[in-house]
Amino acid sequence: MDALNELLENNRAWANSINANDPDFFRKLANQQNPEYLWIGCSDSRVPANQITGLAPGEIFVHRNVANIVAETDFNVLAVLQYAVDVLKIRHIIICGHYGCGGVQAALENFRHGMIDNWLAGIRSLSRMHRTELEALEPAAAVDRLCELNVLAQARHVARTTILEDAWERGQKISIHSWIYRLDNGLITPLRSPIHAPIDFPAPEEKIAAGDELLNSD
Ligand SMILES: [Zn+2]
Repeated sequence: MDALNELLENNRAWANSINANDPDFFRKLANQQNPEYLWIGCSDSRVPANQITGLAPGEIFVHRNVANIVAETDFNVLAVLQYAVDVLKIRHIIICGHYGCGGVQAALENFRHGMIDNWLAGIRSLSRMHRTELEALEPAAAVDRLCELNVLAQARHVARTTILEDAWERGQKISIHSWIYRLDNGLITPLRSPIHAPIDFPAPEEKIAAGDELLNSD
């Protein structure tokens, strides 16, 4: 309980420090949120969206799950995406993975972890698509490469939702960013240029990957 009391004390100190700088801050924030960004990131405690981007409360709408997955069957992420795009009218969607992601590593391992294996099925499929490239790497490098491939794949998933396709069709300006964060230096690196418009289906690398998948399927 002492540990939780510490959190509550931290909270009071934090609220007091904000009030000292801007007495209207919380009153203004309570009346509306107007974020420009939607963050889709990993639940990992070392990758907190606001802190690593230097954004204040009210500036970024956040969804996090294990391994920053955007599954077209996940109503949680779809509801967040739809609210962010249609109601909040955010301008930028950031998919941010991180190197050394435990979820991505679990997807590469050949033993059971529990329920999480079902959640990670899409990443396991992605690893099979890129088997040749990943098998040529040392284990840690393979995890990191799959972390990158996962971010790129999830960004494409966002672009292909009806939510984004409809928004772009209406002329709404939204960019999707594919970022990766490095735990040991705190730095974010963009993996590709932002996606501003609908993308072809499938992407060229996915056509090759799909063939590879068929050849390698059991
Ligand atoms: Zn992670």
